[in-house]
Amino acid sequence: MADVDVIVVGGGGAGMSAAITASDSGASVLLVEADRTLGGSTALSGGVYYAAGTRVQQQLGITGDTADAMFEYYLTLNQYRVDPALVRVLCDQAAEGLHWLMAMGVDFPAAGLYASGVESVPRGHGAAGNGAAIAAALDREVSRRPIDVALGTRVDGLLTDAGGRITGIRAGADSIAARTVVLTTGGFGASPALRQRLYPQSTVHGDAAWYIGKPQCVGDGITLGERAGADIVGHDRGLLLTTPNFRKVLEVFVPGWLVYVNREGQRFVRETAEYAVMAGVVQAQTGGTCFAIFDEASRRDARPLPRYADAFASGALPLNWVADELAHQAGAGKVVSAASLDALAGRIGLRPGALEVTVAEYNADVASGSDKRFFKAADDLRPIAEPPFHAVEILPAIVCLTSAGIRIDADARALDTRGLPIAGLYAAGETCGNVLGERYIGGGNSIANAIVFGRVAGSTAARECHRV
Ligand SMILES: Cc1cc2nc3c(=O)[nH]c(=O)nc-3n(C[C@H](O)[C@H](O)[C@H](O)COP(=O)(O)OP(=O)(O)OC[C@H]3O[C@@H](n4cnc5c(N)ncnc54)[C@H](O)[C@@H]3O)c2cc1C
Repeated sequence: MADVDVIVVGGGGAGMSAAITASDSGASVLLVEADRTLGGSTALSGGVYYAAGTRVQQQLGITGDTADAMFEYYLTLNQYRVDPALVRVLCDQAAEGLHWLMAMGVDFPAAGLYASGVESVPRGHGAAGNGAAIAAALDREVSRRPIDVALGTRVDGLLTDAGGRITGIRAGADSIAARTVVLTTGGFGASPALRQRLYPQSTVHGDAAWYIGKPQCVGDGITLGERAGADIVGHDRGLLLTTPNFRKVLEVFVPGWLVYVNREGQRFVRETAEYAVMAGVVQAQTGGTCFAIFDEASRRDARPLPRYADAFASGALPLNWVADELAHQAGAGKVVSAASLDALAGRIGLRPGALEVTVAEYNADVASGSDKRFFKAADDLRPIAEPPFHAVEILPAIVCLTSAGIRIDADARALDTRGLPIAGLYAAGETCGNVLGERYIGGGNSIANAIVFGRVAGSTAARECHRV
């Protein structure tokens, strides 16, 4: 006999969306959260939501963007190595999910809309108040409904009947029976062991790697699902961010005047490329690393990026790329300096001779005002001419999110290794492994996934209860 219709495990963006939707579909719902508050990594996030065909776009006169265009963009960027049926759901329902959040009071101002990936029309919708505002609105809606919430409760087991149907959860000594269970425990960034197994790329740089999400995101839902027979897919996928690794803080915003070279001493990317693709490009270089090169004049003149002035002023972003800090980091050994380019190349282990050629070509481009190799904006071009010359290793080492996890179908039903639904089990958000691809399509990809599939899972699970 079930105690409740739907148990949702994990109260972040996906979990709260699932709980609200299941409740609105007439199911009795218990939302179980390991932490003492709801919100998860969703609450820590930048609150950018990726969608096409939204009212916010229309306010700005962008009327021609469609779910079809987003779908093509998503599949092309990911070289079709994602599940099109799921991507279709995400693209079709992303705008509706955004409007749903707006109806709850989340403000996505027109001024916050920007091209957050490499799309030609802006689709990254920034929430006023960031992810905390999205989480707070969902939390409010949870509390307005007859949803039971168990905080500070870590689910550590699933109940099954003799036929393999999921019939509830276990948390320590407690067992609670349910008609359906939705797993929304987020990713596994905080579990070194699971990262080693499911996202080995994120461990290449050893101790320099760290996770910026919730400490509770240790992949419990994935482990529980796997024990119940779920197929785990999306091996070695996630989103890394590059960092000079001065400190364990989010320091992804780098000035455009840096010149990135790989171990071969060659440029390989436009240094201002979107963060959504930058880490992947660096990962593909020899040793999965690169070096930012600059000269003494650039170090001496280094100023905070005007675009992030407010974030620097509030302390939300660290002041890294400024003269004094770079001098300080030289003392700490993280800025390596030498009197000549050749000597610098030797100190950081580049192929001999190549750096001088690269810099000579770059300086000629700077003089002509046009970056002929990677087309960086003219404003970002500064010569590398005045010794001493400096280098900072740039590592794709910040784990923003993980994308391996439970395979679901378009109704958010957890699938087993044969591709068949596991009766009574659903999953959504970062716990799943076949929505986010190898390429993050742009800021907002993951929150849109959490909200859209959270709603799908809540609706399917509630529907299923009527049949059990
Ligand atoms: C700093 C930062 C910035 C980001 N910015 C963006 C952005 O702007 N846009 C974007 O799209 N993505 C962004 N991301 C990624 C995005 O926030 C997450 O991928 C997404 O919010 C995940 O949502 P979720 O609901 O799946 O998981 P979460 O929001 O992480 O929720 C999972 C919840 O499950 C709980 N839980 C875990 N295990 C258990 C258990 N055993 N029992 C009970 N509860 C459990 C956790 O405590 C947590 O509350 C960012 C991530 C970070 C860390």
